[in-house]
Amino acid sequence: MPLYLVAVPLGNLEDITLRAMRILREADAVLCEDTRRSGHLLELLNLPSKHLVSLHEYNETERVPQILSWLEEGQSLALITDAGTPCISDPGFKLVRAISEQGGQVVPIPGPCAAITALCASGLPTDRFRFIGFPSTKQGEARQMLIDLKEAEETLIFYVSPHQMGDFMPLCAEVLGSDRPAVLARELTKIHEEFRRGTLKQLCDDPGNPLGERVLLIGGCPEEAPATTESIESCVRMLLQGGYTVSRAAKEAAARCGCKRKEAYRVALQIAGVEGSDEMEEIK
Ligand code: SAM
Repeated sequence: MPLYLVAVPLGNLEDITLRAMRILREADAVLCEDTRRSGHLLELLNLPSKHLVSLHEYNETERVPQILSWLEEGQSLALITDAGTPCISDPGFKLVRAISEQGGQVVPIPGPCAAITALCASGLPTDRFRFIGFPSTKQGEARQMLIDLKEAEETLIFYVSPHQMGDFMPLCAEVLGSDRPAVLARELTKIHEEFRRGTLKQLCDDPGNPLGERVLLIGGCPEEAPATTESIESCVRMLLQGGYTVSRAAKEAAARCGCKRKEAYRVALQIAGVEGSDEMEEIK
């Protein structure tokens, strides 16, 4: 039998899908992070008498052989977590990998995921994004991760627990730049759902309610505007005035402006010609 990965609501019970309901109803057992919490969810969904098996961060590895043998025996198993989609900053990956390596079947039953739910309504670019999940709680590691992400052009998505916010947001502003656009998506799908938008500095100065679950999204590193002829011209002119030869000025301007060296030569030649440089021979 396959393992069903069933996404469950982030907060609003109506976000359970019809398919998820059927799979949970038909499953012989439901694997879950916290049996008490999931038992309560299943009760609310009118599925009170399921056999619940705990599968969390700390017992996943040791549980894998047992679960594989249940699947081989033909038991139908569904995996859920406390909220959202299994395996996304939640348990399940090790089990899915073990099943896949044995040639077994894993069937995803899609539904809510905080990262995607936040992204789609954030107003930040959605065409390319990078999901980071929880940053390290060690300040040094979090800083290095942000340094590595500084040039990334995609929208960055972090899961940040309430107690991490106070340190992590200022670190983001310091490393990535305080004027980066950012969004704090809090209490998604719940009564007090909130999207706070601004620059990283504005959100650091006024982060809002410190309680509740949240996703932090940060706009990617702005792409450098392609060099215009004017900017190449002014760069070449400055270099020539500074004593560079035409060929060196062209080479340097190409590097500084990110344009083709041929293009910088053309501009340099033109300036040198117009302004009577005696280096024309060198270029020819
Ligand atoms: N598997 C989940 C998913 O699909 O999004 C994520 C689980 S992870 C352990 C929990 C984190 O997800 C929270 O710390 C928060 O960053 C985010 N999250 C979960 N529910 C949320 C909600 N209702 N509003 C905002 N963020 C939420």
